[in-house]
Amino acid sequence: LRSEMLEAEKFRAIRDLTGIFAHEIRNPMQVVRGFLQLLDDPALPPRKKEFIQLSIEELDRANETINELLDFGKPAGGDNEEVEAGFQLQRVANLLHSYAELRSVTIHTERDADCWIRANPRKLSQCLVNILKNAVESMPEGGSIRAACSAEGDSRVLLTIEDQGVGMTREQLDRLGSPFYSLKESGTGLGMTVSFQIIRSLGGKVRVTSERGKGTRFAISFPKSDR
Ligand code: ADP
Ligand code: MG
Repeated sequence: LRSEMLEAEKFRAIRDLTGIFAHEIRNPMQVVRGFLQLLDDPALPPRKKEFIQLSIEELDRANETINELLDFGKPAGGDNEEVEAGFQLQRVANLLHSYAELRSVTIHTERDADCWIRANPRKLSQCLVNILKNAVESMPEGGSIRAACSAEGDSRVLLTIEDQGVGMTREQLDRLGSPFYSLKESGTGLGMTVSFQIIRSLGGKVRVTSERGKGTRFAISFPKSDR
């Protein structure tokens, strides 16, 4: 219980700090972006235009990171409603279609009908986006992902996301979900922290199995809603 309380303290501290930093950094960035757009004159030599474009892209990338930090700060839970988990999974897969295609990754979805759970659809999507994005990113040479939603017995709904990517060692798997743990050059290491937090807040359970060089499987189960 004591370690759980420390964990909650830690989350709160991170949340407060990220919120403050995000706001303070975002405003000047928007100003810089605006001026860069003004500088982007058609008469400029192509090389200079390219520098401006690159600067804008980098700013946008930084902004994405800030969005992830802000999402981290938002409290999970609250306004839950009846959502069909398979539909949400499909929606997220569609959302990431071009992100995956760009990396030669295809996402195959399978769904049972009527997998209703109680959840905040935005939070559930966020959770699934983070997991699916990692799955795509785990396959630098491309490959395929299987994303499935099925009934698990009478009382639970099971979502599985399987990739054929780089996989994780035992140690890496143990650290998965710790804030700021990332092996990526420009990763935030918050995606899994957020996803695990959301799953927990929805009464879900998550099991991750992984094998180095073979791939990773996320199995998330939620209580079925008795609608
Ligand atoms: P980020 O993606 O920003 O690095 P995450 O919290 O989403 O942060 O993930 C943390 C780390 O966990 C990743 O950097 C990666 O090393 C590892 N990881 C997560 N999902 C997978 C996966 N499907 N396959 C292999 N490694 C993964
Ligand atoms: Mg990630």
